[in-house]
Amino acid sequence: MMQADMNIGMLGHVDHGKTTLTKALTGKWTDTHSEEIKRGISIRLGYADAYIYHCQKCDKFVSEAKCPKCGGKPKLVRKISIVDAPGHETLMTTVIAATSILDGVLFLIAANEPCPQPQTTEHLLVLNATGIKNIIVVQTKIDLVTREKALENYKQIKQFLKGTAAENAPIIPVSANYNLNIDMLLKTINDGMKPPVRDENAQLRMYVSRSFDVNRPGAEITSLKGGVLGGSIVQGSLKSGDEIEISPGVARKEGAKPVPIVCKVQSMMEETEKLDVAHAGGLVAVGTTLDPALTKSDALVGSVIGRKGEVPEPVDVVKVKYTLLKRTDVDNAPLRENEPVVVNVHTATGVGFVTELAKGIATITLKKPTVAYKGMHVALSRKSGQRWRLSAWGTVV
Ligand code: GDP
Ligand code: ZN
Repeated sequence: MMQADMNIGMLGHVDHGKTTLTKALTGKWTDTHSEEIKRGISIRLGYADAYIYHCQKCDKFVSEAKCPKCGGKPKLVRKISIVDAPGHETLMTTVIAATSILDGVLFLIAANEPCPQPQTTEHLLVLNATGIKNIIVVQTKIDLVTREKALENYKQIKQFLKGTAAENAPIIPVSANYNLNIDMLLKTINDGMKPPVRDENAQLRMYVSRSFDVNRPGAEITSLKGGVLGGSIVQGSLKSGDEIEISPGVARKEGAKPVPIVCKVQSMMEETEKLDVAHAGGLVAVGTTLDPALTKSDALVGSVIGRKGEVPEPVDVVKVKYTLLKRTDVDNAPLRENEPVVVNVHTATGVGFVTELAKGIATITLKKPTVAYKGMHVALSRKSGQRWRLSAWGTVV
């Protein structure tokens, strides 16, 4: 039993191969089974574990338990979690808000198009701003171009990355469709992407990105299982029997202020494996003593979990030092006072109004309290036509 030790985000222009590469690395399409969340701008993180094996016989890194190169029996050396967010608009908001969850990024650039494409530029901007250090550039769709074209594209990429956070990132050419050079990508991930040093004694903090009722309709009361919470531990660790607090919690009455809920951990899983102790990395599903009615249909997504008494107070008002995004596709005028905005922070989505703008800081009054503390990355979206579109990013001050 081995838990994923890092969360790696997939970035890149639409159609540049994020989903296909995720499949090549993990054998799975990015998980989409969690229920769609209402407002169309909610964070929908898909997680899939990538198993990295090393074959001693042929000295290759492979993603299968049987070596596809030589038929040998490779050894499992690592597990990492690939985090993808289908859909371009949600992706940007996700990346900004979820940087607290991501330990590294695969930045995909297709070899068969001029670099940069619009979202390639946007994503690099965000990478620069959020300070994610572990970056590997993946030059995708290499099977669609000649050697000369690939080299020309490589030079464009190099030029484009100059002076940015990804300037010295390795650039690995691959074809996900033909499984070309995926072994080299796995090797580069294994050698170059090391998990951050984690303080085991740090206070537990977990962001909830899923919540379920796992019982079948009509199940016997005696066989009912407690509510399940899925999410990322970003610091500290968790074991069965631990008492946890979930904040902001649940409103006892419609319209009332939510109150934190306290419960006990009964079991923990990562994908299909049972964990005795859960650490940071991957998507951890926590079985609890909660009434499953409280966790059904992603009801607790956006919550923060800590030990009892250790979760920061939820806030109704957040102050965000922000930067307006330069958008090429839609008009993105400066924010206005009284304008409605959607606020994404960690896995929480909140609706609010800009109540004050001064010196690059937006004060936002939220309809419902959320846990947000100093230094957290925030994405702000505004209504444009029928859709919420990413307008600005920033940090809580
Ligand atoms: P995403 O929008 O970034 O997730 O891109 P997808 O993974 O959905 O890929 C977009 C399209 O490109 C699909 O039709 C894929 O089959 C195709 N594609 C992805 N990777 C490769 C590749 O390595 N080679 C070729 N020829 N096509 C690819
Ligand atoms: Zn082998």
